[in-house]
Amino acid sequence: MKQNTQLITGGRKKDYTQGVVNPVLQRASTVVFDSVAQMKEATQKRAEQTLFYGRRGTKTHFALQDALAELELGAGCALYPSGAAAISNAILSFVKSGDHILMVDTAYEPTRDFCDKILVNLGVETTYYDPMIGDDIATLIEPNTVLLFLEAPGSITMEVQDVPRLTQIAKQHDLIVMIDNTYGNGLQFKPLQHGVDISIQAATKYIVGHSDVMMGIAVANDAHWPQLRENSYLMGQCVSPDDAYSALRGLRTMAVRLAQHEKSAMVLANLLEQHPLVDHLRHPAFSSCPGHEHFMRDFNGSNGLFSFVLKDGNQAAITALLDGMKYFKMGYSWGGFESLITVTSSFKRLRTVTDWPYHGPLIRVHVGLEDIDDLIEDLMAGLARFQAHL
Ligand SMILES: *Cc1c(COP(=O)(O)O)cnc(C)c1O
Repeated sequence: MKQNTQLITGGRKKDYTQGVVNPVLQRASTVVFDSVAQMKEATQKRAEQTLFYGRRGTKTHFALQDALAELELGAGCALYPSGAAAISNAILSFVKSGDHILMVDTAYEPTRDFCDKILVNLGVETTYYDPMIGDDIATLIEPNTVLLFLEAPGSITMEVQDVPRLTQIAKQHDLIVMIDNTYGNGLQFKPLQHGVDISIQAATKYIVGHSDVMMGIAVANDAHWPQLRENSYLMGQCVSPDDAYSALRGLRTMAVRLAQHEKSAMVLANLLEQHPLVDHLRHPAFSSCPGHEHFMRDFNGSNGLFSFVLKDGNQAAITALLDGMKYFKMGYSWGGFESLITVTSSFKRLRTVTDWPYHGPLIRVHVGLEDIDDLIEDLMAGLARFQAHL
């Protein structure tokens, strides 16, 4: 089965759909049993996808979990109330006091804050590493190192890590390898195929795809699924069946949405690369992006998210650019049907071991599904406002 077909068929077992196209929306805390024998059986099988208690999920959740485990090629999928919860709970499931972890310097900002503000108090030490470190990752592995955490492309600056090579080295030292695969979304990148143990996503982004549900997912391989599943249960992590239903609905159209996001973003990125006000483009499909060769080798394609650095500007110019945007709305997310824009002016707090050689403001855009002509006009008008205030 090709993967676009898998997106359509995933999780549609008769037991979940009861004869219609979509799974039943089953809202439940309590599951009631008809007999002692049935209750015993459900208790024994509670780690499998059987009705036991609301927190273990209902048929609606099982349908989504099946589809996502299939998408990411794992043994099972845990659901969390946000991407941030998926990241923190996946890490917490595999570390103990005295352990050391390796965290990519270009991690999503709250992932960094979780290490610096939560893990540190539990006696778990974090070392940040350059996303482009390559084989030198081995020099950072200590006797108490247990986990390598990857994110590719990196948040905001888009460096693409060599996931297979870093994973190979980590495995030589028996580390668990996890990745934030929100950009790769399971369709455009399949980390478990490259030896990664746990692939995490903010389903909030492309899976949900409509900016109306928060959700995180973590898909684990055979060796790590039992521990991830049990810890997620013990930490009380669950999502509402209504949200699971929305995520499954989003998943069905993810491939066609991504194709359009990619196409429109490539048009805009090509225009920006040649624009006199743009100092540097950070789009993984362009050779100017660090790790572009890894992207071409390991990913099936790009999507609507990329960044670019403007030539030196001032606050008034940036404000004029942003305040006047018509379709690119200001907001800290991406992956929905709509275009978004944000600016990052300083990387001082966000990066501790990676150099950022550019001086101008970095603009990150998520290119939505609006007509490309409207988006071009909007962005070019924004750059003209920027220039007018220089
Ligand atoms: C948005 C995002 C998250 C967090 O997801 P939430 O659902 O907002 O908690 C994690 N990682 C990356 C790369 C993200 O972009």
